Parts: sequence; C-alpha cells; structure tokens
Amino acid sequence: EYPIYGRIDGPVVIIGFGSIGKGTLPLIERHFDFDASKLTVIEPDAAKATFLRQHKINHLQVSLTPDNYKEVLGGLFSEGKGFCVNLSVDTSSLELMTFMRELGVLYIDTVVEPWAGYYFGTTDNAARTNYALRQAVRDEKARNPGGTTAVSCCGANPGMVSWFVKEALLTLARDTGRDVEAPASRGDWARLMQSLGVKGVHIAERDTQARRVPRARGTFVNTWSVEGFIAEGFQPAELGWGTHETWFPENGHRQDSGCQAAIWLERPGAITRVHTWCPTPGPQFGFLVTHNEAISISDYYTVGAGADPEYRPTCHYAYHPCDDAVLSLHELFGSGQQQERHHILTEDEIIEGIDELGVLLYGHEKNALWFGSRLSNEEGRDLAPYQNATGLQVTSAVLAGMVWALENPKAGIVETDEMDHARCLEVQRPYLGPVEAHYTDWTPLQDRWVQFPEDIDESDPWLFRNVLAS
Ligand code: NAD
Repeated sequence: EYPIYGRIDGPVVIIGFGSIGKGTLPLIERHFDFDASKLTVIEPDAAKATFLRQHKINHLQVSLTPDNYKEVLGGLFSEGKGFCVNLSVDTSSLELMTFMRELGVLYIDTVVEPWAGYYFGTTDNAARTNYALRQAVRDEKARNPGGTTAVSCCGANPGMVSWFVKEALLTLARDTGRDVEAPASRGDWARLMQSLGVKGVHIAERDTQARRVPRARGTFVNTWSVEGFIAEGFQPAELGWGTHETWFPENGHRQDSGCQAAIWLERPGAITRVHTWCPTPGPQFGFLVTHNEAISISDYYTVGAGADPEYRPTCHYAYHPCDDAVLSLHELFGSGQQQERHHILTEDEIIEGIDELGVLLYGHEKNALWFGSRLSNEEGRDLAPYQNATGLQVTSAVLAGMVWALENPKAGIVETDEMDHARCLEVQRPYLGPVEAHYTDWTPLQDRWVQFPEDIDESDPWLFRNVLAS
C-alpha cells in the first residue's frame, strides 16, 4: 500500500540515530527498494545499540571526527555509490557532503552542522552565525557546480517550509485574482513574491505537544534534539533583512561578504522574542532562533543582489516550542547553566497537542497568510512509528528530499528552495496531517500593552521594529 519511490543502488548509511534518525529509518524501509544488508547506522551512543541489534541493523558505534570520517565513510562507500543520510549533531555537513560528492554518493542533511566545539568554542559571534555556516556551503557550490546531488538542510525547517512558501505564494496569487502558473526559475519566483507585495515571512510555529507529568527541574525537555536546540538557541539571533525595513536594530550587524541577505543581532536567539501569529493561539510570542531558512529564503527571493537590492523579503523564525521547552529555556538562561539531563518527548508519553508549523507571508493586500502543517501527535502515531509530530514533519521532508535526489542525481549542491516543491510536497503530504491556508487580519501593532510606551513605528505595521518585542 506504500509507494516505492525508487531503488537505491549501493549502501545506505544513516549518521546519527537520535529522534530524527530513528524516525527516518522506517520511512526509508517503507519507500525505497535497496539491499537491506547494506544499511548501516553510525551512532556513538551505546544506548541505541539494543534497538538496532533487535532490528538487525548494522551498527557502527563510532563518533565521526575530522580525523576518522574519511576512513569510516570511505570504507562503507568503497563501491562509489549509495546514499548518505546525515542526521547527526557535531559532524561537519560541509566536509561530509564534499567527500560524498567526491565518491559519487548521494547525500542529504537537515542542517548545516559544524564539527563538535564550533558553537561554544569562540566568543566571536560573527563566526558563530548560520550565515557563516551557510555561506561556506554556497561557496563550495560555486567552486564545484553540478556533480553528484547533495541536498543541504532538508528537514521541516529548514526544508519543508521553503516548499510551503512557494505553495503559499501560488495560493495568494490565486486568491488575489491573478492568473499565474508556477514560475520555472528563481528569478521568476522572486518577481512573483515582489509583485504580490509580500514584505516578509515568519516561519511561524506553535508546538502544543505535552505529556501528563510536569517537567522536573534541572531537565531540558524538548520535542527534538535538546543538544541541537541549545546550540542554535545560543547562536546570535539572525534574520533575512528585507528592503521594506526603515530602521536598524542598535545591536544589529550587517554582512560584508557573500549574499548579504541577512543580519545578526548581538543577542542569543532563544531569548529574543518576536510578535507573531499561528492559527491555534492567534497572536503569540515566538523566539527568533537563527535558522538556515531565514537566510536562504531571503536570498532566494531577492530581486537584484548584494546589500542594496531592488527587492528582498525579511524572513525569520518565530518559534514557540512546546511549553516544557519554554520552561527549560527560562531555567537555562536564568541560571546560566545548561541542564545535565536532557529529554526528548516520545510519541508514547505525549497525551495531547500538535506541531503547527507554517509560513506567515505578510504585508500584502490580504494582510497575512499562514500556510502550514497542523500535525497532531495522535495522527502522527498512526502514520509512522518511533516519532512524535515534530519528528514526522522532519523525517517526511528527508524522505521527500531523498526521492528528489534519486530522481535528480546530478543536481550538485542544492537547498530546498532550489528543488521542485510540488514533487517534494507530493511525497511528503501524506505524513503532514492537515495542511491549511489561513488568512488573518492580525498585525504586530495589535494587542500591545497600552500602559507602556514602546519603540514602534505605526506608519507600517510590518516593520521588524514592531515585530521585535521590547
Ligand atoms: P538527537 O540529539 O536526538 O540525535 C543526534 C544523534 O547524533 C545522537 O544520537 C548522537 O549520539 C549522534 N552523534 C553525536 N555526535 C556524533 C558524531 N560525531 N558522529 C555520529 N553521530 C553523532 O538529534 P535529532 O533530534 O535526531 O536531530 C538530528 C539533527 O537533525 C540535528 O542536527 C538537528 O539540528 C537536526 N534537525 C533538523 C530539523 C529540521 O527541521 N531541519 C529538525 C529537527 C532536527
């Protein structure tokens, strides 16, 4: 009953068997034809060994490092074909993808991850930005165009949300009486967004998944990688910087090389709050945590180039994680200490809630449009094993990206903005629960606290100055 999307010739190697790796495995088994004896999981954590043994999966219990990755992966991929699915933390996406492309092995990841130590090893905040990490991958693409496909940043966000932006643009075009076909080039997509009057995009997420027991003090609880969330939460807040902005944050920094689509703030993303909107809560606070898609989307939809283009949308993450994660962040930043205990909520302990993850396109003639997935944990459990709703939004994007890579094996290094969004969503949609479009007349100027004067500019509700919470 499940479609087989193609054959993977050669080994399949999953790096990292955390919440995402474990959830991706059943989708790979379900949707691809491959030689099961050539599937290997690289995972250093001994706690994962029992599951892998019981499921008869080859397990290499080793941590990849700059010193051993060529030997380990070179050994597994000696045939020069196959698929490398990188779902780990603390491994360099750039080095792994470069090596896989040299070998002729397809590659996918969900984040531009650096080797261990990068996130906390320096106080040079400019060097700790996602801008720097992403630009290094873009530079490699420019140096070595074409060749074996390596899909960069293909999870839910970054990833799926880039496909949602395109679907939302076509929806908005239709609903405002325009007769448009899906554009065929990057430039035409950018012109479409510009012509629709979109000023910016929030990656607007509300995770309401909860379990029965309250969070224990001293434990960081999340619905996906705690390590990954703490690392990105401690990076500087970053956002794609649009051409409609008339004000510049005092603690903001521009970029002077690369695409220059983004700026960063001298402040950790996980305590930088923004006013945003999702269908379930309506207006809410989100955290402006840095993410690759904030930069890639602003870059992709730029008309012109460099620091002063004709058009560019503002774009950033506006994330309300599950309530236990909000409390965990509060405790972490308040104490200045990372919790020693980490816990990812499992699909079995979650008793209620959904992950509502979409894109909020704002500033146009219909004010704002949220387009996204509203997947509940309950529905997710019916669709695929070993993951909560958050996990399934990510792993189904990995599946879609793998299908696209198999169908386009010589596309070089690509980001999800550069892939066929319709094909990818076709593969992914059966796993996303309700995928819906919601218009709202809410703006960041509504529901303010009238008792306290704020540094806002009422001439345009959608300025970042109004979005940023003081
Ligand atoms: P996790 O923390 O649950 O698991 C990560 C796994 O990587 C762990 O099992 C760990 O032992 C393993 N690992 C650590 N160092 C390693 C090394 N040197 N070599 C090999 N394996 C190593 O994380 P997760 O929730 O499964 O997330 C995995 C990755 O996916 C993270 O990088 C995360 O940021 C990313 N992610 C992306 C999205 C998205 O939407 N784009 C969403 C969730 C997670």
